[in-house]
Amino acid sequence: MQQIKIKSSKHFEFIDLTEEIQRIVSESKLEAGICFVYVPHTTAAVTINEDADPAVKSDIISFIQKLVPWNGNYLHTEGNSAAHILSTIIGVSVVIPFADGTLSLGRWQGIYFCEFDGPRERNVDVILTEAKS
Ligand code: ZN
Repeated sequence: MQQIKIKSSKHFEFIDLTEEIQRIVSESKLEAGICFVYVPHTTAAVTINEDADPAVKSDIISFIQKLVPWNGNYLHTEGNSAAHILSTIIGVSVVIPFADGTLSLGRWQGIYFCEFDGPRERNVDVILTEAKS
C-alpha cells in the first residue's frame, strides 16, 4: 500500500490526485489490475469526475453545500455534521482498473480528493492488485 499525503487549504476543496495515482501505478511496474483508492477520514471523500473544465468541480462544491447546509439542526456537537454527511454521501473509496500500466480513466475523468472540513492534513491510501490473465 502507498500513502499520499495531502494538505488541504480550504474548508471545501477538491484536489486532483490523478497524476499522483498514475505515478504510483507506473512505478509499480504492474501491467494490469485494479487500483483501489481509500480515504481513511470521516469528513472527506474521494470521487471521479471531469478534470478538464474547473467549473465542474466548482458547480459540484456549490451544489453539495446547498444539499447539506453547514448550519443545520444537527446533534453532533463538534459542529461539522455536514462534513460527516457528505463523506458518507460521496463515499471514501473508488476503484479504477488499469491496463498497460495506465489508469483506465475516460478522457475527461480525474480522481479527486474531496475536503469537506479543511484545512487539514490528510492521507489517501492507494492499493494495487495485479490482474491474473
Ligand atoms: Zn465531527
